[in-house]
Order: sequence, then structure tokens, then C-alpha cells
Amino acid sequence: MSEMNIILLGAPGAGKGTQAAVLCKEFGVPHISTGDMFRQAVQAQTPLGLSAKSFMDSGALVPDHVTIGIVADRLAADDAARGFLLDGFPRTLTQAEALDDVLCRRKKELTAVLNIDVPEDELIRRLTGRQVCKVCGATYHRVFHPSPQGERCGVCGGALYQRVDDSEATARSRLLVYSRQTTPLIAHYTQRGLLKNIDGLLPIDVVTEKLRELLAGMNSRGA
Ligand code: ADP
Ligand code: AMP
Repeated sequence: MSEMNIILLGAPGAGKGTQAAVLCKEFGVPHISTGDMFRQAVQAQTPLGLSAKSFMDSGALVPDHVTIGIVADRLAADDAARGFLLDGFPRTLTQAEALDDVLCRRKKELTAVLNIDVPEDELIRRLTGRQVCKVCGATYHRVFHPSPQGERCGVCGGALYQRVDDSEATARSRLLVYSRQTTPLIAHYTQRGLLKNIDGLLPIDVVTEKLRELLAGMNSRGA
């Protein structure tokens, strides 16, 4: 199997984490979510977490130099040597350029940038109804993807919680940040011939199937 170095692009609430959970398992690559890494650091009250918390709570981006540092370190880990799926990174052109440098130094290339496209009103419904398992991080939605165990996780039985930044006001700020700072990446990766668009309004399992087909197609070309 050829190496798969994938970026999952899309606004907050587009379904990146939901899809990454399935695809990473299937394709055997690590799921590298900067949001998850920051939330773990906040929970553990590490210096990284303490510096990231105020940015996250207000819906702003954590400064580039901090974020680039943690991703560069993560990509140096053994499990990322044969492919990875980045979720929530890069989010600025500076981060995209830094990623290029890191990959170039490690003699790696991006395979594809998969852009999950969802309109804003739907994103707000998804973010404000999202529930996350405290224990294993599995993601649900009160209406669109309820846990079979109600307020407990269908995978591990852990309690579900709502992220503080999923309030409607903070969700709206995050979408504004996304449109100002992250949407330029769509043109950036289109110009490089790497971008593939996926209609994220489709049901979860149909989006998974479309992503799977795209990845399988790339894999057979690169094999
Ligand atoms: P992201 O990682 O891009 O922020 P998530 O994967 O956490 O997004 O999904 C956001 C919310 O939308 C979650 O509550 C999830 O269950 C729900 N969701 C994800 N994909 C879909 C979909 N295709 N249709 C309906 N709801 C979805
Ligand atoms: P996410 O889980 O991807 O929705 O990210 C949650 C929060 O973590 C964001 O609102 C940011 O505050 C922070 N964050 C995650 N990824 C990045 C990134 N690539 N650059 C800057 N901040 C980030």
C-alpha cells in the first residue's frame, strides 16, 4: 500500500472528526487532530494547555508558532512514518507553508486535501447539537447521530458532554475565523492540484463511502 498523507479540510462541524475516526481505523494511519491535542493539554493543565485555553474558549485560533510546533513534533513520531490524516491543521496559510517545510525535510508529500463542504446554517445546527464522550472522544449529535445509549457513549459507556466552544455565540465566531483565516487554503491547495471536494450534507455513511472511494482511487494510482 502506498503512503497516505492526507489533510481533512472543512469548517468546524463539517464532520472531519467523525470521518477521521472511521477512515484512520480502516487505512491504519494515525488521526492527528490539533483540536484534540489542545483539549487533552487543557485537561492535563500542561503549559501548552494553559496557553491555548483562552484562545479556544473564545473561538480564536491558537497562535501559529505554538500550533506548528506541536504538529511538527507529532509528525516526527514513529506511527506517522507510513502516513497520517491531519484534522483541523493547517488552518492558516502560515501553517500550510510550515507543513510543506516539515514534509519536505522528512522527504514526504501530501497525497490529497479532502475538503468537506457544508453550508453555514447546517454547521451551526451540527455544532450546537454535538456531544462528545469524555472517555474515548467519540462524537455524536443529539438529533443527527444520537448515541444508542442516550447520554452515555455507545462505544465505551462514558458520559457525554457539550464542548464549551459549541455554544451558538462561540460557534458563530469560529465560523467567522474559519472563513477569514482558513478558506484561503482551498485556493492554495486547488492551485497545487491536491484539493478534492466532498458534499458534507450527505448522511455520515455516504460521506464515508465517498471519501473511501477517493482514497482507494489515489492508493491504486500511487501503488
Ligand atoms: P468537525 O470535526 O469537522 O468539527 P464533527 O465530526 O465533530 O465535525 O461533526 C460535527 C457534528 O455533526 C457532530 O455532532 C456529528 O455527529 C455531526 N455530523 C457529522 N457528520 C454529519 C453528517 N454527514 N450529517 C449529519 N450530522 C453530521
Ligand atoms: P477543533 O477541535 O478543530 O474544532 O479545534 C478547537 C479549537 O482548537 C479551535 O477553535 C482553536 O482554538 C484550536 N485549534 C485547533 N486546531 C488549530 C490550528 N490548526 N490552529 C490554531 N488553533 C487551532
